[in-house]
Amino acid sequence: MFRQQHRDSAECPRCPDIENNVHVFICIGPGTSDAFNIDMEVVDEHLLDCPNDMVIAIRESLLAFREQQEPDFDLVTDDDIHHAMVQQWEMGGEKLTWGVLHTAWQPTMAQYLKSTRRSTARWFAILCNAIWELTEQLWTHQNQLEHTTEDSHINIERHEEANLRIDEIYDMLPPRVYLPKSDRHLFAQT
Ligand SMILES: [Zn+2]
Repeated sequence: MFRQQHRDSAECPRCPDIENNVHVFICIGPGTSDAFNIDMEVVDEHLLDCPNDMVIAIRESLLAFREQQEPDFDLVTDDDIHHAMVQQWEMGGEKLTWGVLHTAWQPTMAQYLKSTRRSTARWFAILCNAIWELTEQLWTHQNQLEHTTEDSHINIERHEEANLRIDEIYDMLPPRVYLPKSDRHLFAQT
């Protein structure tokens, strides 16, 4: 409760909005687009190794959430990937930005990796980490901006706040970022 109140009072260093776990991803204040595009590279690099429609689905979903609009689901023609994209979006776009993926993605990648000895779960774990890194980098950029504009005492407080918020997100995540089959009920659609 204390944390929540603390967080609600935080102003974004880049724009007049309130800064929170969602805002850091969607802020369109000065410099955020460049930061976002640079930080997307780690996600893009991992997406080089999956079906093309999956690249489109995941990129489009992340960009749509950033722009706070519905993704263009029609960009994806593969039925299974289209289905997974819709399921993921219905979980809440912010879940994707925290690297929480819907299990509906799994069959496509299992098929894609079928002829290899590589693990589907591992592929998703790396994707989760890449997306998490993107979100974490956006926090870092916000903090660095504070460093250049505020005195050190406020900086330290802001750093501590940001760390608390990152801890909060971690607390919300399941113990294993990519869910094994036994945990699927946790993300069952209601
Ligand atoms: Zn902002």
